Amino acid sequence: MKTRITEKQLRRFYRLLSVRMIDFNCGKLCAPKNNGIPTCCENENVVPILFREEFNWHGKNGRFWKKITSKKKAIKKMIEESASYYVFSKCPVPGNCRRSKRSLCCMTFPFEPHVNREGEVLGLVYTKYSTGDCPLVGKPRRIYNPLYISNSITFWQELFDLYPQEEELYIEESGKRERRAKRQGKRIRIFRRG
Ligand code: SF4
Ligand code: SF4
Repeated sequence: MKTRITEKQLRRFYRLLSVRMIDFNCGKLCAPKNNGIPTCCENENVVPILFREEFNWHGKNGRFWKKITSKKKAIKKMIEESASYYVFSKCPVPGNCRRSKRSLCCMTFPFEPHVNREGEVLGLVYTKYSTGDCPLVGKPRRIYNPLYISNSITFWQELFDLYPQEEELYIEESGKRERRAKRQGKRIRIFRRG
């Protein structure tokens, strides 16, 4: 399979996203209500997806992420139907994070990019995949580090150069979001640079 993200690029992505998103441990907001496990870290509830190169890179630096094996029909179906460059994974230490081992998926949650039709990342929006259990969703922009927002936008834009399929996916999602907002007479809250 073609290599798209080189190790150099992966290290750059990790540097960009290692900037603190907020200045407190948000796990303390959700974990007490979820048996001590942050809701976004719970395996099989929110299944972490790693890019194949990312998964292999972590593998070279000591075993951490494991491929998920699940008996749940919904998860099996999701794996079968998804892009071949995704590796659905399992975190061995949910609730006891080793920050250096976090995936790109861990570091971008609870956001996703909002993109125009040309594929330009306009900013970040709360992901619809938050399952409603992330207490950060809906919080105002002022709690977030502006450098994190800017770096995350840069990350998504560079990722799209490597994975045009991801760009298409988010163009489609962003279009749906805009149409939904228009129908409901609402404005989309986009966290832009600056
Ligand atoms: S991002 Fe949301 S779900 Fe994840 S640890 Fe922080 S508050 Fe909890
Ligand atoms: S690496 Fe950390 S943030 Fe990611 S799922 Fe595991 S415990 Fe959660």
